[in-house]
Amino acid sequence: MATRTLEARFERMSVNDENEYTKSKVITTTTQIPHKSSRPNLFKVALQTQSSNTVTSVTLPSQAAQRKGAQPTSPTRKPLPGPASRSSDELALVEKKQAEKKPATLIDQPFMPKQFHLGMFEIGRPLGKGKFGRVYLARERTSGFICALKVLHKGELQQGRVEKQVRREIEIQSNLRHPNILQLFGHFHDSKRVFLILEFAGKGELYKHLRKEARFPEWKASQYIAQMASALRYLHRKHVIHRDIKPENILVGIHGEIKISDFGWSVHAPNSRRQTMCGTLDYLPPEMIKPGSSDNFYNEKVDLWSLGVLTYEFLVGEAPFEDTPVMTHRRIAKADMTIPSFVSPEARDLIKRLLVLDPEKRIPLEQVQTHPWIVKHCIKGERAANRERSY
Ligand code: ATP
Ligand code: MG
Repeated sequence: MATRTLEARFERMSVNDENEYTKSKVITTTTQIPHKSSRPNLFKVALQTQSSNTVTSVTLPSQAAQRKGAQPTSPTRKPLPGPASRSSDELALVEKKQAEKKPATLIDQPFMPKQFHLGMFEIGRPLGKGKFGRVYLARERTSGFICALKVLHKGELQQGRVEKQVRREIEIQSNLRHPNILQLFGHFHDSKRVFLILEFAGKGELYKHLRKEARFPEWKASQYIAQMASALRYLHRKHVIHRDIKPENILVGIHGEIKISDFGWSVHAPNSRRQTMCGTLDYLPPEMIKPGSSDNFYNEKVDLWSLGVLTYEFLVGEAPFEDTPVMTHRRIAKADMTIPSFVSPEARDLIKRLLVLDPEKRIPLEQVQTHPWIVKHCIKGERAANRERSY
């Protein structure tokens, strides 16, 4: 059947990256990057040169699963809505599709390489703008697959000295499959630009939701933290440390589920000893700010601290150490914070167990998942746990 052939073709579709972009000389950078948000990202990274002879081969999620949700009149042929609109039709369609989406599998198909190119996509409305590029809603023409296309200009990446960071982001993120981690399906480039094919997060930035609601009710915060814990557990099991957990780096899917994005600062754990960095003050763990400390060593437990800061910010509406930069440093070094009285005793307990100076004494993620505050609000806890086992 024609459909079967199409599916089979699409399932084999992969990016076989053998371009000068990934093979270009790796530059060791020390860079300071301005951040668009009110909390400046002051990450300063001295990155060690790593060889990156990687061949990326990625497949999109089962198009069969996507198409099952489509209507008989092939709505995938409909043009994407214009810049100003996001029709409920479009969302309903995406929602239906996403609901039936199965996790993609990474298949190395060296014999069937298929290079992505811009002409394969129908470009829709802009979804947002980051430091180095713009993101558009897009649809792969043949399959109707809806995604977000992130366009990065090589010139700007070079100027910002972040080529290596972007390469790392691509390498790490394209190997991750988890419902609460934004998936990177593939990438391609032309002479001037790099394109990232990303999972579309229908409800946008969590940061905006938080600012709009001022703070989240406990049930919502706890469900978000449970999803974060599940995603972080998955990452840590794969020896990936995110290092930049904060509301600005979390997107929201069509069902209200969170999607961790922005792996620009993530590293594979064994390399962490070779990095020095200092960053987004509010979320920075104490072990990473010790001045001149020779044991600039830290591990995946930095993400636990950030999870504590996140829990606090979800419930209170501002980060626990928000202050002048000097004071934020001092207060982080002493874990000096006050939890307002409207925060429930259970939530307070979890925050206190995460914001512990000694990284080894922070509550482990498995225990976060079974913490009374999480259990109390996450009715679907068991289902979530079951789902997790399959990843
Ligand atoms: P920075 O460059 O500082 O990291 P950023 O993470 O916001 O900023 P991008 O990742 O380029 O930058 O994204 C820009 C904006 O586009 C996001 O803030 C978000 O609103 C939107 N966006 C990005 N990716 C997606 C996606 N997969 N689905 C939906 N919207 C997205
Ligand atoms: Mg970002």
